[in-house]
Amino acid sequence: MSSVGKLEVGVVGCGVAGQAAATLLADEGHRVTVFERFAEPRPSGAGLLLQPTGLAVLRRLGLDEQAERLGARIDGLQGLNHLKHTVLDLAYADLHPAAFGLGIHRGSLFELLHGRLRQSRARLITDAEIVDVVRDGGRATVVDKAGTRHGPFDLVVAADGAHSRLRERLMPQARAPLYPWGCIWATVADSRDMISAPAMLQQRVRGTTTMMGLLPVGQHRVTLFWSLPAAALEAGRPIDLEAWRFEALELWPEAVALIEQAANADDFARATYRHVALPHWNDGPVLFIGDAAHGTSPQLGQGANLGLLDAHALSRALAASDDLVAALALFARRRGPPSRFYRQASHLLTPFFQSNQPLLGLARDALMAVACRAPGLRPMMTSTLAGLRRGWLSADALDAEGRYPLDP
Ligand SMILES: Cc1cc2nc3c(=O)[nH]c(=O)nc-3n(C[C@H](O)[C@H](O)[C@H](O)COP(=O)(O)OP(=O)(O)OC[C@H]3O[C@@H](n4cnc5c(N)ncnc54)[C@H](O)[C@@H]3O)c2cc1C
Repeated sequence: MSSVGKLEVGVVGCGVAGQAAATLLADEGHRVTVFERFAEPRPSGAGLLLQPTGLAVLRRLGLDEQAERLGARIDGLQGLNHLKHTVLDLAYADLHPAAFGLGIHRGSLFELLHGRLRQSRARLITDAEIVDVVRDGGRATVVDKAGTRHGPFDLVVAADGAHSRLRERLMPQARAPLYPWGCIWATVADSRDMISAPAMLQQRVRGTTTMMGLLPVGQHRVTLFWSLPAAALEAGRPIDLEAWRFEALELWPEAVALIEQAANADDFARATYRHVALPHWNDGPVLFIGDAAHGTSPQLGQGANLGLLDAHALSRALAASDDLVAALALFARRRGPPSRFYRQASHLLTPFFQSNQPLLGLARDALMAVACRAPGLRPMMTSTLAGLRRGWLSADALDAEGRYPLDP
């Protein structure tokens, strides 16, 4: 049990960060209630890449082996431009021969986290969209859309995602502009493992306006990403899949089987992203974690991993501190530098892949492959991919077995 004592904790959001935080805190003996706006909690979108960092948190939850069975081991990242010149070429093995990432379908990750949450003592209240938090001395009560109050809680963990309503409500000084580009994404069968075989996250780009990604996510499936301006992704605006199919086949003819399936299935999810920067992690007893605190573009594939690390760091900070104020300060000290780095690095890198600035595409094609081979830069780029950066000048190392060592 933590030295803070047993806390009443409310967690808003049953996504990656919220479920991990709720489970870890309930395991530590805190009394946890999770609020989810949907009647049936569910994942949205296709697949994602878990880094050694996120996998370490899944291991702490006892979920790593199941995740590895469901997902696909990824050995690195390969990007080519439309002329098939290398743009990116990074390998986890540079960090440790046993290191890898894991491509996994969101549905699989969600089921694992949700099953584990259900086994814990945390209580889940669904169909409860939280619209406000009312302070009550040092405690906080959450208010749902129907006006029902829940609490009071010693700690409210706001894990309500990149488009967080609580952030808007409680931290009006936070910045969270939308990126001008987003993407569509779908998961399709790769029955002949044409794309899965090299076990790579692969990308093809043409300038900065055309980008496609293919990520094996296990069980002979691949998630396909296609970049589009955010304006084209507005709800209700139709996407011309025939035009997309034509353009995608021109960019990546070898992926014809996957492109045809995606074009015919017509089940693309749409995603827009925000560049989230908070002035501080908490407003009194309300702490923001996950995308609500540091949403970025997915260019570096870190968001879910950062959310899992937040969840773990919160449970450790509460265990190591004498009171809540000290615990939240310790949490901020541990999580501030890495999440700031990934937010800044994603923001710097994104226009080289998604923007209306063709010169950035030319610079990317000319310089990035060189950087991937340069002795000083390659280790930095690989540790960035693996989620190991603490900041621009420092990074964590993997342990003797090639795994990420979590803070005790
Ligand atoms: C195209 C794309 C590709 C990506 N690829 C990767 C990748 O390869 N690797 C990676 O690590 N990350 C990736 N990400 C990022 C990753 O998806 C997010 O960082 C991660 O899902 C954030 O988790 P979260 O728990 O903070 O928020 P979410 O997963 O968004 O969960 C928020 C939860 O809160 C609920 N909620 C929202 N508002 C309320 C409310 N008011 N009341 C109650 N409940 C509420 C929602 O319904 C949801 O269940 C990608 C993102 C995109 C868009």
